[in-house]
This record gives sequence, C-alpha cells and structure tokens, in this order.
Amino acid sequence: MTPKHNRELHILTVPAFNDNYLWLIHDGEHAAVVDPGDAAPVRAALAAHNLRLTAILLTHHHADHIGGVPALLQEWQAPVFGPRNDGIALVTDALDEGDRVRLEGLGLELDVIEVPGHTLGHIAYVARRDGPDWLFCGDTLFGAGCGRLFEGTPRQMAASLAKLAALPDDTLVYCAHEYTMSNLRFAQAVEPGNGALAARVESDAALRAAGQPTIPSLIGVERATNPFLRCDQAGIVHSLVEAGRLAPGAAPLETFAALREWKNTF
Ligand SMILES: [Zn+2]
Repeated sequence: MTPKHNRELHILTVPAFNDNYLWLIHDGEHAAVVDPGDAAPVRAALAAHNLRLTAILLTHHHADHIGGVPALLQEWQAPVFGPRNDGIALVTDALDEGDRVRLEGLGLELDVIEVPGHTLGHIAYVARRDGPDWLFCGDTLFGAGCGRLFEGTPRQMAASLAKLAALPDDTLVYCAHEYTMSNLRFAQAVEPGNGALAARVESDAALRAAGQPTIPSLIGVERATNPFLRCDQAGIVHSLVEAGRLAPGAAPLETFAALREWKNTF
C-alpha cells in the first residue's frame, strides 16, 4: 500500500563540496536530510525555507556523506538512520535489507535496499509515494555510471545495481554526485551506437550549460543509457573485446568487471 499524505512533499537540491548533492525532503515544515556531508549548506537551506530537521538518513560511511552529522545534531534532535554494517557510530536507527523507515513528521515511508559494492554496508532508500517513487542511492548508481568498488567485488556491485535497475522506470534517481557528463563521455565510448544515449548527452549537456543539475535521473533512462546496467548488450561487449579488455564469449559479470576497470582509468 502506498501511504497517503495530506501535505505535498518536495526535495531541495543542496550542492556541497565540488560535486556532491545533499537532498532535503520537506513538507514546508519538517525536513529529512540524506547524506549531509557538510552541515553548513544544510543549515542554510533549512533556515532559508524555515524548516525543522526531524531526521537524518545515511547511505554509507564516507566522510562526504556523514561529515555534517555531529554539527547538525548539536542544533537539532533527530534520529540518524543508516546501515547497520557500514561502521557508522553516529547511527541511532540501524537498518537492514527489507526494513521500512517511517518519517512521522513527513508522513513518508522508505524501504531499505542493501547495495554492497562501493562500501560493504552501503544501503539505498526507496520512498514509496502516490506519484513516482524516489530512490536515494548514495554512491551506488550515478547518472550514466556507478560508484567505484572501494570495498566490494564486481559480483556484489553488479547484483546491487540489478536490484536498483529492477525498480519502476519512472523512479526518480537521487544519487549523491554530479558525475553525469564525465560518465556520459565514457558511455559513448563504449556504446557509440546507442541513440537514447546520444539524446541524453544532448539534453544533459543543455542542463549543465544552463547551470542546472542533471539529477534526479530516471531508472528508465539509466536502463537505456547507463553502460553498467547494460552489460548484456552486444555493442558494449564488442567495444570491450576491441579494446583488448575482454575475451570474446565472456559472461556478463566479466563484462561488468572489465567495464568498471576501464572506467577507472578512462
Ligand atoms: Zn562514497
């Protein structure tokens, strides 16, 4: 059952550092922040919109995702939701696969998906809504790309991405970095014949030229253009084989591993 809300919910894009996005979900009164790596821009956004911070949601342990939590907790009393197994001491409400987070003030429920790979305990949140769902996936799925494998294996990351790719096409993807244009350059190198990809390059380049974020993206768009969700595509396999990075007839998991490896040095 999709929960019904009386108030309309909005998401504010809070840029931080060089290319991070911190997401602020609010109803005009209460707010929940996702991955507050820095407290200052979150504070500024809360003040500008006259919002009260009522929850903190964390996806994984990296400093650019959790660094602002202590300062925010000095000012606000809020539960800190986060992965049970990613070594974050600040978490007050530890989450596992299949858990459901209820944000009382906002009347919003989020399902927890475990997505190991970038870190071993990384989780993602899917906000169930009357309209399209919202996915908060940290550094797992990016616009036209995916996170680096700092801790997990290609097998783990491929399985994590498959879970996210199985969400409905109209799911809005709120990832944590603006990496889309550099990811698209790689995507075009490995799948030059993809028409949907060419169209995306054009529309996302126009957004960046206008100073706009390319995020949120859509799961349907990622499925059509993100090479890391398309390891079964002949064109991608062909490019890897041509580049001497994959043996002909390799399994999809080897294709994924070779693709991730190539992107690391692209
Ligand atoms: Zn990270």
